[in-house]
Amino acid sequence: MTKIRITEKLKKQIIAGKQLLLTQDFSNIAKQLDTLPDNQVVELLDTKDTFVASAYLSAQNKGIGWVYSNKKDSFSYQLLVERFERAKELRAHYFKQSLTNAFCLFNDEGDCLGGLRVELYHEFVIFSWYNAFIAQQQDLIVAAFQAVFPEIKGGYAKNRFKGANLESEHIFGEMHPNVNIILENGIQYATHLNDGLMTGIFLDQREVRGRLLEHYARDRRVLNLFSYTAAFSVAAAMGGALETTSVDLAKRSVELSRAHFELNQIDLSHHRFVVMDTFEYYKYASRKGLKYDLIIIDPPSFARNKRKVFSVQKNYRDLIEGALSLLNPNGVIIASTNAQNYPIADFKKMLKNSLVNHQYEFKEVFRLPSDYRSNPKQIDSNYLKVFVIEVKK
Ligand code: SAH
Repeated sequence: MTKIRITEKLKKQIIAGKQLLLTQDFSNIAKQLDTLPDNQVVELLDTKDTFVASAYLSAQNKGIGWVYSNKKDSFSYQLLVERFERAKELRAHYFKQSLTNAFCLFNDEGDCLGGLRVELYHEFVIFSWYNAFIAQQQDLIVAAFQAVFPEIKGGYAKNRFKGANLESEHIFGEMHPNVNIILENGIQYATHLNDGLMTGIFLDQREVRGRLLEHYARDRRVLNLFSYTAAFSVAAAMGGALETTSVDLAKRSVELSRAHFELNQIDLSHHRFVVMDTFEYYKYASRKGLKYDLIIIDPPSFARNKRKVFSVQKNYRDLIEGALSLLNPNGVIIASTNAQNYPIADFKKMLKNSLVNHQYEFKEVFRLPSDYRSNPKQIDSNYLKVFVIEVKK
């Protein structure tokens, strides 16, 4: 077993609950860092060579590895079974719900194993491998998972790390039928579990869709930007919206969006699907004099369209300004971002700055729902930030 001596600072942080390991945490051995083993378990020792934690090293979109235990634990079947059992217990109330059968079963460092996420889509699951080490442990992880969740019919994997051959693959049990229908707050959504990295719905936005359904959408004209498969629009329509307009750049979004409406037997006459860049749509709508009572903005963290590059940190303000120009008095903007590197305080400040010439009220904020457990000692692991803002005039 490779042993690595860490700084006193990192030791303190690990004892306090830090799990994610960054290159800069190993400044004491910066020169040796390149020679450290990738994709393997290591023991972290303090400056006196006393054991601190068990970790694994594997580079991913963030960091270079994860602490997975404060004890001398090997990365074993037994350890994984215990983690899955604990995760299942913590979600007991989700299993009892009759109107929702899709949620997160295991979330990364929130469930004390960074690099792994498991999401339930009715009778099937999706494993997300965020680094090569976790992906290499597939057989062990799946075996432990099946011991704890024998009722699951089959599973797929999303390889969310550099160097993976396939983005998506079937890894155990049955294959789901052509379309895998899930239920959320009583609404049906069509999901495709083996078609690239996306499934047709982002389950972490469940509470936002829930509030559209029960509260925000009634009698409103709704504009849903970056609508993907129009999940927000469907929730709004089911919640009594007068009309919805879903705008997405991807042509395929129209077919998938329409399918969602049809699945829930919603008459399509008051619901439109537009394939267009959001900023182009702002111009188009303002030329046509279109106005809305509720505008939902949920962009990707980063996107490229022709020569233009969009990043939430740089361009969100333009999105808000465009939305304000189409908003009826007393209208509502729902502004969402899932960019982990955009702290909530900065996001809120940007929103306030873009609203300086308006009277407004922050009505509600959504973070990750409790099934997407985050690490309270690593606040950016709660990456979702959704503000509901009422703009008086
Ligand atoms: N809000 C969606 C998820 C959005 S995913 C939901 O709740 O399910 C991001 C979407 O933004 C993708 O479907 C992508 O096609 C779209 N997109 C990216 N750049 C865009 C742009 N400039 N204008 C409109 N849509 C864009």
